[in-house]
Amino acid sequence: MAQTNGQGLPILVAGGGIGGLAAAYALARKGFPVRVLEQAPEFKELGAGIQLGPNIFRALEAIGLKDAVLADAHRPPAMEMRCALSGELIHRIPLDDQKFLDRFKHPYAVTHRADIHSAILKACERNNLVTLETQRQVESYEADNDGVALVLNSGERVKGRALIGCDGMWSKIRDRIVGDGKPRVSGHIAYRAVLKRAEVPADLWRPDVVLWAGPRTHFVHYPLRRGELYNLVAVFHSDRYVEGWNAEADAADLWAHFNGQRPEVLRMLERIETWRMWVLCDREPIRDWSKGRVTLLGDAAHPMLQYLAQGAAMATEDVVCLAEKAAAQPDDLPSAFQAYVQQRYLRTARVQIMARVYGEFYHARGPAAELRNQLLGPRTPEDAYEGIAWLYGGM
Ligand SMILES: Cc1cc2nc3c(=O)[nH]c(=O)nc-3n(C[C@H](O)[C@H](O)[C@H](O)COP(=O)(O)OP(=O)(O)OC[C@H]3O[C@@H](n4cnc5c(N)ncnc54)[C@H](O)[C@@H]3O)c2cc1C
Repeated sequence: MAQTNGQGLPILVAGGGIGGLAAAYALARKGFPVRVLEQAPEFKELGAGIQLGPNIFRALEAIGLKDAVLADAHRPPAMEMRCALSGELIHRIPLDDQKFLDRFKHPYAVTHRADIHSAILKACERNNLVTLETQRQVESYEADNDGVALVLNSGERVKGRALIGCDGMWSKIRDRIVGDGKPRVSGHIAYRAVLKRAEVPADLWRPDVVLWAGPRTHFVHYPLRRGELYNLVAVFHSDRYVEGWNAEADAADLWAHFNGQRPEVLRMLERIETWRMWVLCDREPIRDWSKGRVTLLGDAAHPMLQYLAQGAAMATEDVVCLAEKAAAQPDDLPSAFQAYVQQRYLRTARVQIMARVYGEFYHARGPAAELRNQLLGPRTPEDAYEGIAWLYGGM
């Protein structure tokens, strides 16, 4: 490559999920031409819900997308934890409440993954500095002091001034930078389904995010898309391992684990004809995920279990930080990437670690479950807000 410092070439983004598209849009807003290469035949998210804490809205506001994401979301009045064996209410945290808004300045919402993804996609499509390409599977890259050449599985090489690996949990770009092998299999498996509102028995439909905590299981449900849909996720311990987010699930396996739980749980689970499943994986936190002109973002950098519902939030916070650092040093992107990682790695490490702790907490049994319930029972909403302020109050 000629010594041009990559000037005139776009920044390459490998992967067009929530993280990749948000990164492309935020960098384009700062004046960088960006080229997104996605392996799938179209830019699309799988059918499932996603919880959005106030910190993701802080990040979305910084890139001008808060209102677009809120438009189709549902605002749950509260989050409840209930015992899946006795039905007892363990803890209730008001969310659509003035005290919550006063404390965190942004709302709590739940939405369909396709809705948040399409809000970001539309913003990218409207920005003429973003080029979106599908059926472009990234295999590897080569980098020197001057630029990056992305190698696709077709053998084609795509040149850029820098590369951001947003290619998720099984990232090819991470493999080159970090080389820490396959993700850690947690031993937990998640079944998910989305129902239409009319398919949910009227006495079971709830506007809240409800989590039924059982021994080595939990079950979460909440409305999506302005209340028109209903999201169900059932998690249990299992040694099965299947790669990907969208495997076909065996209902018998689910029933074996939820047997004996409250009728409200079982009646809801019975509504589902076809479950999709994914095996929950994460990785150990790392201190550095940049190398020269190549960096990582979102699940490629710090994949986490979903127990704090923070994967997309951490990706979006990454985006804001990365775009600010790149804009501050547009002629020295390797230094900008280092500054970005320095600012992000401890916060994302904390979420990776705490997500594991919350998983243990939800799935506690015997005396551990009793202790959890005793600990949470007397907590006021203010106590709950204080406990989560490190996460919801920051970025
Ligand atoms: C069912 C489910 C529920 C979740 N719930 C929540 C929640 O409640 N709250 C929350 O904040 N987070 C949640 N998460 C996590 C969150 O969705 C992710 O952490 C977040 O979307 C990070 O996105 P990403 O863009 O980094 O990775 P991904 O969303 O995994 O996107 C990666 C993209 O890269 C593409 N790709 C992969 N490899 C290649 C390649 N070689 N070449 C080209 N393209 C490639 C993929 O096709 C994909 O489009 C959930 C995740 C799942 C699956």
